[in-house]
Parts: sequence; structure tokens; C-alpha cells
Amino acid sequence: MPIFEYSCKTCGARFELLVRGEMTPACPECESAELERLLSLPRVHSQSTRDLSMRAAKARDKRQAKERMETQRQYEESHDRHG
Ligand SMILES: [Zn+2]
Repeated sequence: MPIFEYSCKTCGARFELLVRGEMTPACPECESAELERLLSLPRVHSQSTRDLSMRAAKARDKRQAKERMETQRQYEESHDRHG
């Protein structure tokens, strides 16, 4: 069954809908039927892309926190030596 991604022209919400037969899709946020169908990506692809970018962001945060701690430690060490 096709899953389409829509953008609501009324409130701007973006969502995926499973469309069957004569069903008229409506916005889950405001129930408007003024929708624009977007180029749909396979769900698996968009999911794994999101996971990957989240993992990358977490790794980056961790690295930055470590670098900050290291910088702080070096600063304190040099500070102690001079003081
Ligand atoms: Zn809407």
C-alpha cells in the first residue's frame, strides 16, 4: 500500500498518510484537505537516515564535551603552574 508524504497548505504540517482507494487525505493537525503531495521516500530510507544523523550528532556532542573538558583541564593546569 502506498504511503505518501503530504504538506498541509493550511497549517504547514508535514505527515505521511497511507492512501487507499477513494479516501481523501486530510491533515491530522487541522483536518484541512488542502494538501500538497510531496515526493515520497521509502520509509526505511528516511528512518535510517534520521537514525544515522542522530547518531552522528550524538557522537559529535560527546567529542565536543570531551574536548571542552580537556581544554578546561589544560587551562587549570597552566593556571596552577603560574599561580
Ligand atoms: Zn493542517
